[in-house]
Amino acid sequence: MKKYNFNAGPCVLPRQAVESAIDAIRDFDNTGIGILEISHRTPGWERIMKETADLWKELLQIPDNYRVLFLGGGASTQFLDVPANLMKKKAAYLQTGVWAKKAIKEAKFYGDVEIVASSEDKNYSYIPRGYTIPADADYFHITTNNTIYGTELHEDIDSPVTLVADMSSDIMSRPVDVSKYGIIYGGAQKNVGPAGVAFVIVREDILGKLDRPLQTMLDYRTHISDVEKNRSMFNTPPVFPIFVMHETLKWVKELGGVEAMYKLNKEKAAMLYDEIDRNPLFVGTAAKEDRSIMNVCFVMNEAHKEKEAAFLEFAKERGMVGIKGHRSVGGFRASIYNACPIEAVEALIQCMQDFEKQD
Ligand SMILES: *Cc1c(COP(=O)(O)O)cnc(C)c1O
Repeated sequence: MKKYNFNAGPCVLPRQAVESAIDAIRDFDNTGIGILEISHRTPGWERIMKETADLWKELLQIPDNYRVLFLGGGASTQFLDVPANLMKKKAAYLQTGVWAKKAIKEAKFYGDVEIVASSEDKNYSYIPRGYTIPADADYFHITTNNTIYGTELHEDIDSPVTLVADMSSDIMSRPVDVSKYGIIYGGAQKNVGPAGVAFVIVREDILGKLDRPLQTMLDYRTHISDVEKNRSMFNTPPVFPIFVMHETLKWVKELGGVEAMYKLNKEKAAMLYDEIDRNPLFVGTAAKEDRSIMNVCFVMNEAHKEKEAAFLEFAKERGMVGIKGHRSVGGFRASIYNACPIEAVEALIQCMQDFEKQD
């Protein structure tokens, strides 16, 4: 049976990226050696590293004073790398979910944290507005898409201090004005590749302002100094995940780039939300104006609560994978990242309508 993958991450990848990864495992770049076995100092690999950074710059129109780094440790390590590199005394955070809370926890190791606003009062079902960013903070940290709750900041905000964004689950889903940010980071495994690599887009002039020592591996400048030599390889990089990222970004480019992705993503999300709003069995959990175009969260309508398990089973029989909601929201979550084809969204909608009819 055909499977439709709605997993939240790791998640569906473009088929062509998977196919070239399989080929590269057998033989990388006509070297006669597979990508899992090459040296990361092979010229062919150095070319892939450079091309991957160039694809990032091209697709997101990243200005020249920014660097793109590919690091191990996932987005979770960036929760501490960011304050380690930027915090002198105080940082400001917008608390929009569990990931933001985890970032806050790590920042507290480095100084004072001011939570400017939180949506915890309503189980993070909305994005707070009308808060003030303190002008004396070293940086302001936001999570642009809240993967678990299905809320998303749809616009690049203005900040009087360095803006830092965790864009793990909406990077490359829409055009971003990179110049508004000091740092954009995330794990690759939601929209730009498999698990095992994190991306960090950093404006160079914000670094090196600390008067405390910083460990070599934590210091972004360590990895940047090697980018100068076009390598971003102070130590062994996550070779295979970066290769799949390279292939994924090539696919984004071939499809027309981030603008084209955005158009398609908005279309997919609108179709699914329309069905949730129409179908009397279901109800969306996120505030309408903050609904994510990447993670669509919904539950059974109060009057039909007892049918939740039945719907999950019904959907499973029709090939839907990964639509069980996160335990902190319950119900269902369909993650419809870039690589999720529109046919998968159509199949899920059909499944919801069929369930309604047999009800
Ligand atoms: C998945 C996710 C993370 C955690 O990423 P890891 O790479 O597993 O550390 C952090 N932030 C957001 C918004 C996420 O969706």
